[in-house]
Amino acid sequence: MRSKALKIFIFVSISLMFATFVFAQSPAKALVLQEMTWTDVRDYLKNCDMVIIPLGSTEQHGPHLPLGTDHYEALGMSKLISARTGVVVAPVLLAGYSVYHSGFPGTLSLEPETMERVLYETVEMLMKYGFRRFLFFNYHGGNNIVQKKVIYRINQTTEAVAAAIGHDSPIEKEEEGEFFDWHAGVNETSIMLYLKPELVKIERAEKPKIHFPPRMQRLRELAEKYPELMGVWSALLATPKETKKEGSSREISNNGIWSFSDPKEANPEIGQKEVNTMVEAAVKFIEAWKRAK
Ligand SMILES: [Zn+2]
Repeated sequence: MRSKALKIFIFVSISLMFATFVFAQSPAKALVLQEMTWTDVRDYLKNCDMVIIPLGSTEQHGPHLPLGTDHYEALGMSKLISARTGVVVAPVLLAGYSVYHSGFPGTLSLEPETMERVLYETVEMLMKYGFRRFLFFNYHGGNNIVQKKVIYRINQTTEAVAAAIGHDSPIEKEEEGEFFDWHAGVNETSIMLYLKPELVKIERAEKPKIHFPPRMQRLRELAEKYPELMGVWSALLATPKETKKEGSSREISNNGIWSFSDPKEANPEIGQKEVNTMVEAAVKFIEAWKRAK
């Protein structure tokens, strides 16, 4: 009996010591440029020349997710990466290239050239103070082309080095799960339920009616034999209405959601898993790159 009491005493003591240790280490906070002072930035640059620039959008995300979904995702994940690596996040743009969603009100869109110019000028400013390594965290497919272009331009014309760490980057994991759950569906609704639940109106979530034009349907059938044709299929999707490809958001989906599944099946656990995968890959990449200074 006595030895049992002793065991319990030792167990409780160790648990308390562990709990004190865990709570004493307050969770690291993200560094966001707009929340820092100029002296903070000066001190930061003594130890680190990296900066994360999130890229998202302000565009329709179905009747249940906010227009700023991609912005909140890109910023939210960038902040989680910042908290883990100590690298500062510098948000510059709230909108991205989203013109093919403009059949639904509230969507904003910037021309790729406008985005490139804003991002490049931002990089030039940050370089003046000593930033030299630029990490773009993109979370909107429409921005892929701009991200590629601006990274290429930085690497080819300045002393700085730029790389992608989000969507359309070498560290992105192959997408698992259902084909075509791409926009405001189960996956994205789950991410928002994890990152920004207060902005999700889940009672309005509804499975969309998806309509692919005959040309796209035929391409998918043919792609079963010639998978390369999916490249042409993709070229038709997410195009402005004016191109007459019938691939704009309003033409393929009745409510703006791009998914074959029902977004009501979303849950924060799926979202957390997705977010963790993205954040973990970016953290590993940054920690490795830090060692190559
Ligand atoms: Zn989105």
